[in-house]
Amino acid sequence: MRQKTNFRAIGRVALQACGLLLPTAMAQAQRLIQKVETVPAGEQWLSPGDALQVRLTGTPGGRATFLGGRPLTELAPELAGGRRGVYQGTYILQPTDTVGGPAGRPLWLHLRLPNGRLDSLPTAASVRLLSPSQPLLAVTRGTLAHLNYGLGDDRLGGAKLGYLDSLVVLHVVGRVAGQYRVRLAEGQYAWLPLEYARLLPPGGFAPSSLTGSWILQGDSVYDYVRVPLSQRLPYRSQILENPTRLVIDVFGATSNTNWITQRAGLQALGAVYYEQPQADIFRLVLPLRHRQSWGYHIGYEKNMLVVRVARPPARLQLRGLRIALDAGHGGSNVGATGAGGVSEKDLTLAIVRQLQRELERRGATVVLTRTADESLSMAERVTLLRRQRPALLVSVHVNSAGNAAARGTSAFYRYAAFRPLAAALYGRMQQTGLPGWGLVGNFNFALNGPTDYPNALVETAFISNPEDAKVLTDPAQQQRMARRMADGIQDFVKSVRAKGMRGWLGRQPAEQ
Ligand SMILES: [Zn+2]
Repeated sequence: MRQKTNFRAIGRVALQACGLLLPTAMAQAQRLIQKVETVPAGEQWLSPGDALQVRLTGTPGGRATFLGGRPLTELAPELAGGRRGVYQGTYILQPTDTVGGPAGRPLWLHLRLPNGRLDSLPTAASVRLLSPSQPLLAVTRGTLAHLNYGLGDDRLGGAKLGYLDSLVVLHVVGRVAGQYRVRLAEGQYAWLPLEYARLLPPGGFAPSSLTGSWILQGDSVYDYVRVPLSQRLPYRSQILENPTRLVIDVFGATSNTNWITQRAGLQALGAVYYEQPQADIFRLVLPLRHRQSWGYHIGYEKNMLVVRVARPPARLQLRGLRIALDAGHGGSNVGATGAGGVSEKDLTLAIVRQLQRELERRGATVVLTRTADESLSMAERVTLLRRQRPALLVSVHVNSAGNAAARGTSAFYRYAAFRPLAAALYGRMQQTGLPGWGLVGNFNFALNGPTDYPNALVETAFISNPEDAKVLTDPAQQQRMARRMADGIQDFVKSVRAKGMRGWLGRQPAEQ
């Protein structure tokens, strides 16, 4: 913008006058501004209506501005961690703005003191304004693309909204540092990590589609729901309970579903239907005939949305059940380390090997993510497990805490639908004599993310606690834990048998 250009020029003059021509140390001493940044920090792409937030740290008592004279407010010290000289400003971007231009550029912030001295500094990262008249589109890449709720990050990664198939078209309306902000529907947004996105050339329309008529059918293993779309749209899913049902929102889709054909061979699906909760969200409601969900997978065949619904195993017993076990860490990823240098990766493999023997003794078929001390990324594990299509997964880990007093066993699950498996394992693990540390839900761990099969993670005990460490490193105690975990899996399977089928909502009229 015009005024901005003026300020940039003034900024350069100020730099030459008080900074660039002087030795560095003196220049530092003379600067009025110590730091400028956008909040959140990092490269930003914004759309009209978004808030552009900036912060300047410098000499107190001045007048700070950005965007051609818009004022920043100097924070009271109690709002700035006791500091003076912290200025903040917010600007809501307008459709006619040209901030940053189409290519993006750093944003200049200015600080003028009452004595007339002026300093200007650009943000380290650039700001770019996206035009709603030229929708920016991206497609998902790879098989592990996922949406995040927000910009959060920790050792587990940001909280995930769900996985997406490849080549799903997304409308990019922003970017902050390492993630694209995508618009799913009116008022609904999510974030996509850059590594799972490929930007498309300009000229495309914001993604949308009418839905065709559904076909439901079963093969020898799964039930399927097929919904024709004209392009691959993003979706979100969850299992709701009482009654047990799978609910899938397809964003950008509007119903032209005029019938739902339910062919022979369906076993898991009940009386399915759809809703259109808002103009651009199409909702599949898939009641399940069994109270316990055995998982599902959503993906595309060309532009056909395909929901693959797993059935409970034919015989609800360990004999013949295909169980996946994951020994946490391995290779260069040693995990937690205990006194005497014992490492989590070795303990988890030893315990998983015992659990494998125990389950095989009871007639189960066991598949392992790793059988030796090898490095295996989370992505490799998830990919491998999806291919193996187990009936369920148990991932085994060893806990550790800075506080040596923390001890006990715990079990983790991501989705409430899979809580019974984690709860059964947790209950049985306490029978080894280990105290219960807790049952943890909504756990954002990569191996708890897949919805394809019930899964749980067991943190057997704390290697950082001397009593727990004795249990963890003793082969006889490892075997006891393995037996109890096998009991827990057996309890889960039995409980599903006891829970059985649900009431009328799930049944197919033809089969009653
Ligand atoms: Zn671990």
